[in-house]
Amino acid sequence: MDNEMRMEFDAISENEGFARVAVAAFITPLDPTLEEVADVKTAVSEAVTNAIIHGYAGRQKDKPCKVELSCRLNGNALHIEIRDQGCGIEDVEKAMEPLYTTLPDENRSGMGFSFMEAFMDDLEVESAPGEGTLVRMKKKLGI
Ligand code: ATP
Ligand code: MG
Repeated sequence: MDNEMRMEFDAISENEGFARVAVAAFITPLDPTLEEVADVKTAVSEAVTNAIIHGYAGRQKDKPCKVELSCRLNGNALHIEIRDQGCGIEDVEKAMEPLYTTLPDENRSGMGFSFMEAFMDDLEVESAPGEGTLVRMKKKLGI
């Protein structure tokens, strides 16, 4: 089955749950297992939370802070993209290391990217300072 959806929402924590459930609903026609649904929801939740708390950290709210989420199904392959126009990441490789966090004082464990990597089949991060961040994830469902 081929299908596509795209949405944009304000970068506020209230929308993290909404984004997670929207993706879960989007993949329902494929009859995913409970484990697959949980994996995808966790990965989406980590990426969206990162956009909100890191991407737009300290941003004046006079400019709209938005997160873009798009999902595509090609057969049983799910492609997810989560994009923010926030501060970007200086060293992506380092940011993706387990336990690396720039917010240790706020009880962040630095495991977000590691979870995305563990729960999805493929993870790519494109980012540059001042240019925002794009997280691309892939997962084959029903295998
Ligand atoms: P946790 O996810 O365990 O709560 P964390 O968010 O710090 O902690 P990761 O999700 O692995 O850990 O992210 C690692 C680091 O990468 C972050 O501390 C932050 O510096 C940077 N980062 C991640 N996503 C973004 C983003 N969208 N914009 C800017 N920086 C980001
Ligand atoms: Mg995180």
